[in-house]
Amino acid sequence: MDESICPGCAASLSSSQLLYEGYFNTTPECWSLFTEVQGKQYGNVLLGRYTHQSTVDSYAAQHAGANHPDKSLAIHLLGLYLVIVQDDDHIETVDAWAREVWAMWADHHQTIAELL
Ligand SMILES: [Zn+2]
Repeated sequence: MDESICPGCAASLSSSQLLYEGYFNTTPECWSLFTEVQGKQYGNVLLGRYTHQSTVDSYAAQHAGANHPDKSLAIHLLGLYLVIVQDDDHIETVDAWAREVWAMWADHHQTIAELL
């Protein structure tokens, strides 16, 4: 079976009939795998909450080149910088805010839990 080697991350994946018309320096197969990861994150709010943005930033930075605009790459690298280098304050601040808002809705917690 033919393999495709991603120029961005060097992943070796089985070649497919998939097409990729985006601007990342990737293969259709690697992009497809990335969309599966995104789908899993969209399907699990807790997983997505902590991983989605870093997943997108990591994928974009790892697959730089091709037609990926430099300004987009810069934004993704800034995203990684904020999470990895300056994460403490931001994550704690947003987490505290989310918990405050959640507490404000205490009378409805049971109803919300029953929606799942
Ligand atoms: Zn790749």
